[in-house]
Amino acid sequence: MKHIRNFCIIAHIDHGKSTLADRLLDFTGSVTEREKQDQLLDNMDLERERGITIKSHAIQMEYTYEGQEYILNLIDTPGHVDFSYEVSRSIAACEGALLVVDAAQSIQAQTISNLYLALDNDLEIIPVLNKVDLPSANPEEVTDDIVDLLGCDAEEVIPASAKTGIGIEDILQAIIERVPAPEGDPGANLQALVFDSVYNPFRGVETYFRVLNGKISKGDKIKFMATGNDYFADEIGTLKLEQHPKKEVKTGDVGYLITGIKDAREVKVGDTITLSNSPSPEAIAGFEEVKPMVFAGIYPVDTEDFEELRSSMEKLQLNDASLVFQPESSAALGFGFRCGFLGMLHMEIIQERLEREFNMTVITTVPNVSYHAFTRKSPDEIVIVNNPSDLPDPSTLDRVEEPYIKASIITKSDFVGNVMSLCIDKRGQITNQSYLTTERVELNFDMPLAEIVFDFYDRLKTVSKGYASFDYSPIGLRSSKLVRVDILLNAQPVDALSALVHADNAHTIGKRMCEKLKELIPRQQFDIPIQAAIGSKIISRETIKALRKDVTAKCYGGDISRKRKLLEKQKKGKKRMRQVGNVEIPQQAFMAVLKLN
Ligand code: GDP
Ligand code: MG
Repeated sequence: MKHIRNFCIIAHIDHGKSTLADRLLDFTGSVTEREKQDQLLDNMDLERERGITIKSHAIQMEYTYEGQEYILNLIDTPGHVDFSYEVSRSIAACEGALLVVDAAQSIQAQTISNLYLALDNDLEIIPVLNKVDLPSANPEEVTDDIVDLLGCDAEEVIPASAKTGIGIEDILQAIIERVPAPEGDPGANLQALVFDSVYNPFRGVETYFRVLNGKISKGDKIKFMATGNDYFADEIGTLKLEQHPKKEVKTGDVGYLITGIKDAREVKVGDTITLSNSPSPEAIAGFEEVKPMVFAGIYPVDTEDFEELRSSMEKLQLNDASLVFQPESSAALGFGFRCGFLGMLHMEIIQERLEREFNMTVITTVPNVSYHAFTRKSPDEIVIVNNPSDLPDPSTLDRVEEPYIKASIITKSDFVGNVMSLCIDKRGQITNQSYLTTERVELNFDMPLAEIVFDFYDRLKTVSKGYASFDYSPIGLRSSKLVRVDILLNAQPVDALSALVHADNAHTIGKRMCEKLKELIPRQQFDIPIQAAIGSKIISRETIKALRKDVTAKCYGGDISRKRKLLEKQKKGKKRMRQVGNVEIPQQAFMAVLKLN
């Protein structure tokens, strides 16, 4: 135990977390030549393309320092706010953290929010100034920023380049010298913290854990304390690039467990593993059920594919427990599912996986957050509104509450005015403004989560010319004035285009939606009126003018193959269209409300 160090790397996206992890593995000889490939820890294709670690992993390195061999467990953390609960549990499994800051970009929003998570868990922080090799690096200034943030000495900041290898040895030494060895009682009843799980189609769910007290042995009958389920520890071991089965994993160490579980929902991040026959009297603090934050409908493009979509979603859920869904039907789109996601990135990932791994073409409807509505008839009973159609009739409503977040934005002083106007426009209330340096400012707002879903990131990027970073955490529900804006095409309401919006913005949003839909819906053989309505009141109207003549008409008399090509081209373009009544609606139209500017 004295020679174990458990640490994680926290960083803002792109500051070099994955590259540094690779370099550490390399330096400690934890990777063979054959295993060497870029970004070893990001082993899902999707992750690699997006450059984000979606699922955290752990890896064990051996390093000899002053004649003594040490075990260094690196626990990787996901780099996106959608997965912040997983980040918090990974951090809880460590005694130390490398705080990686890009020497050109300096401290960003995610640096700070992850730092707070680490400080909450009493981690020893080792600041690393990465990318010192860049010509644009500002090592002195950024070191000052770090010193201000942490209240540490400048000497404690390690200049490094994960790219060229500068400082890697210093980092390893600092991990050994500064990060405390794990504490815990090897003789106590088993308490192991689940900080991650990964679905393996052949072996079932692999659970990653950190032993706080006691030990776990192969064959033990174990219990997950939050779910109450018992299993046998069929296989346990430690994690290198490959899994190394062991007879036991002891206090202070990090390992994996295989029990034959086939459904990811049975293993909950933050749960405590103990022994069924001599259970620990208490679970490790900090367990939370993760709750979906954003909901949207997912429908097959072809109505006949509903059952196939169901089976694809079920398979996805087996390896992604944070995805929830239930069947719903829409008058416009037929049968589909109302799905809950951790956030917008998670939603995109699910959509992409459905397409890549399951070959499904789907239509996703306007996402919304989860509201709590109360009717006058029973003002104490919560009506959960995860779908615009769930909102009770406005005439019966007592009140509605919506989820709020605390937003942290770091930007240059030049853009403070722009960022403030944007956030105020998004119903934000400023709670704090502090100058990190003369040029960089941190702003905090309380804001409705719904406003983040609706086109926030793009606008923040625009108003700050890209010089703003953003992070948030939920702070509970607050009362809200919510209305449902319905859209009618050809005088027919299209339920899948309805959106829940704040009453003050309803008219503007209704108007902009009509304009946007006019742009997005292709012209057809007849005029299509587009209307926005609140209840029975029409608040806006546009018309898509009929096509003047058949597009194929110009081919008449021409050669037949050209006409066929044109028809095929049209067919391809139709792939993501849904016929609603006699109007063809492209996928983008269902998301139109998200891009109203
Ligand atoms: P992450 O999002 O924090 O995991 O960041 P990555 O490790 O994916 O790195 C983001 C980008 O920065 C990649 O293009 C890396 O090659 C690059 N990068 C990482 N570390 C360094 C460094 O020390 N120097 C330079 N010049 N580039 C680096
Ligand atoms: Mg990465």
